[in-house]
Amino acid sequence: MSTMQERQIQDILIEELMIPSEKVAHVQLNNPLEHALLVLVKSGYAAVPVLDSSYKLAGIIGKTAILNEILGLERFEIEKLSEMRVHEVMKSDIPRLTKKENLVDGLNAVINHAFACVVDEEGHFDGIFTRRAILKELKKEIYTKSYKK
Ligand code: AMP
Repeated sequence: MSTMQERQIQDILIEELMIPSEKVAHVQLNNPLEHALLVLVKSGYAAVPVLDSSYKLAGIIGKTAILNEILGLERFEIEKLSEMRVHEVMKSDIPRLTKKENLVDGLNAVINHAFACVVDEEGHFDGIFTRRAILKELKKEIYTKSYKK
């Protein structure tokens, strides 16, 4: 890749491509698993961010983790959905980005994850950055470059 192309990609900031927090479905640390599963099934998302009561990012929770948690030896132990809370099942070791990081930082963050959460300096949740956003941007780059040729 040429220096020119690299500079252009590094000039694109996460804040330009992220989905802002007000448009992101989320759950809270103390919600029962049942609520999280309802949000996930109704939204159609595989995983959503988990926030604390001051809107700081705590982790993410996904359908697979919930289903694994309630899976017993011979049946799904459905009662666990109301007994257990989101903080008991969520994953907190997740990639985090800030608004002022760039597309290359975003690309690294989503290689092993479908999305990365965006936070401010204090850890407050600002939004998410998805693989879809990267792919759309790359598609734009490729089309622009080939039309110029
Ligand atoms: P996408 O790249 O659009 O398929 O999104 C990848 C993942 O990001 C989804 O499976 C969800 O886990 C998450 N996601 C995308 N958009 C939202 C949203 N508006 N609210 C919550 N999670 C989202």
